[in-house]
Amino acid sequence: MDLSILGKNIAAVLEQFFTEVETTMGQLSPEKFEQLRVNFLGKKSPISGLMTELKNLSKDEKPQAGKMINDARQTVEGKLNELKTQAISWEIEAKLSGEALDISLPVEGFDNKGSAHPVTLMRRILVQSFRHLGFTVYDGPELDFEFFNFTALNLPPYHPARDMQDTFHIADHKDLMMRPQTSTVQIHAMLREKPPLRIIAPGRVFRCDSDPTHTPMFHQIEALVVDENISFADLKGTIDVLLKSIFNKDLATRFRPSYFPFTEPSAEVDLMCTVCMGKGTDCRVCKGTGWLEVGGCGMVHPNVFEAVNYDAEKYTGFAFGFGIDRLAMLKYRLSDLRTLFEGNHKFLSQFPISAS
Ligand SMILES: [Zn+2]
Repeated sequence: MDLSILGKNIAAVLEQFFTEVETTMGQLSPEKFEQLRVNFLGKKSPISGLMTELKNLSKDEKPQAGKMINDARQTVEGKLNELKTQAISWEIEAKLSGEALDISLPVEGFDNKGSAHPVTLMRRILVQSFRHLGFTVYDGPELDFEFFNFTALNLPPYHPARDMQDTFHIADHKDLMMRPQTSTVQIHAMLREKPPLRIIAPGRVFRCDSDPTHTPMFHQIEALVVDENISFADLKGTIDVLLKSIFNKDLATRFRPSYFPFTEPSAEVDLMCTVCMGKGTDCRVCKGTGWLEVGGCGMVHPNVFEAVNYDAEKYTGFAFGFGIDRLAMLKYRLSDLRTLFEGNHKFLSQFPISAS
């Protein structure tokens, strides 16, 4: 044997190696890679076989022959190293495409997004409508001091609203009580801000009351505007626009003279019946009157401004409060206020998840 034959043998081995690499491409696993390594670099491999042929060569040819075989071994090793990295990533890819696990598929029983409570829906509609008119949402505590609940709101000690039968007082804390109306937030806001002021305060209120149209806890939304030259016309206009936008209907409003200690003059707000559209004939919702009571309103009493150090000569303002539950009843045509707070899943799941 001479060097040319050795060269041909080496070329044949390398050709065989690359042919096998070619056929295993794409389906190369770490196991197949190991097999390739044993086949071409192991003790019984053709390359090791070539080494045994070295002894048949002359002394002069041996170094070059050794180099040729070594070069061939390095070529194979280099290619195998390259394939080793690929084999691992191919295996991961094969595993991922083989397993039909789609994590974006909804799990059975979890496709129900739920629904929003009608009071929540109504509150969102109200807040949205007020925001369009430039109002800011204000929050306040549900348990509050006598000053915010009564004194600052021009409710003198002899006023019946202070009575134990109306208001939840706290045992051992004479000056703390659950707020009977959201007007407390007006006081908090005015003590913190200077006029002009345009705020709303939606929230829970508490009164000792329970029958088909009253619950001990209910929801109110209070609105307060304070600025120079605010008149009753502004109050009427705001309420009119607001109620039309909430019910998305051209409904008339009516103002009946009334009394509230924190406003003067004061009025009850009636809305044209959303069911019979004011006709009244045989309408059970408005009991034949054509009108529905939705809240109270009035011009802020100067004594209230005095309690928060606002200049009552310079500023005027209006305030009004609506029952969110009452508006939800009218919007969603519910016959009993208590259904809102019974937590009946069948009833509540009929409502959408958002108001829009
Ligand atoms: Zn009616």
